[in-house]
Amino acid sequence: APVAPCSSWSSDSADSDSSGESLYRVVLLGDPGVGKTSLVNLFAGIQERDLPEQPGEDAYERTLSVDGEETTLLVMDTWETERRPQDEENRFHNYCMQVGNAYVIVYSVTDRVSFESASELRIQLRRTRQAENIPIILVGNKTDLVRCREVSVEEGRACAVVFDCKFIETSAALQHNVTELFEGVVRQIRLRQDSKEA
Ligand code: GDP
Repeated sequence: APVAPCSSWSSDSADSDSSGESLYRVVLLGDPGVGKTSLVNLFAGIQERDLPEQPGEDAYERTLSVDGEETTLLVMDTWETERRPQDEENRFHNYCMQVGNAYVIVYSVTDRVSFESASELRIQLRRTRQAENIPIILVGNKTDLVRCREVSVEEGRACAVVFDCKFIETSAALQHNVTELFEGVVRQIRLRQDSKEA
């Protein structure tokens, strides 16, 4: 399925494609440098690419087989946009907050400021999508940088409890827990689908 190009980002917010098969948009949020692009690149490498990479296209579509069932995720790594005028950037961020079926909020365990930003993003998301029970996964990345760690695993976990989201620590560099992260996203999406249908 084509990704909405930036020129049309204000218009649509599709939940699924027209064939009836589910396509879920997963939006990556987080400060610059925490490892969003590294994580999404690993996600893109999980299976052969369906589409040739297009310059400036920061969304990757993959079908994952999880628990014997296939689900397609469209992972959007568009949070850090080109330098636009501030009001446009705000509008774009607002769009990102609206369009996801699930969110992955990334911080670096080596950067406390990025951890604080993650909380801010969670609050912003809650405000934007108040009534909805959307899956949110808090991710502490760069666990390989043991000696530079500024945020403990306990702090990460506690934050996730407070903000009512899932939590996982990853290392994109070591490819640790990255598959588990995206499988977790799929499971969280399914849990909510199932409870909606029940
Ligand atoms: P983004 O700005 O959030 O998209 O972050 P990037 O994916 O561009 O990563 C920023 C920098 O951190 C790059 O130099 C990456 O190689 C590095 N990086 C990303 N993930 C990890 C990780 O798990 N461990 C280490 N050691 N470096 C990482």
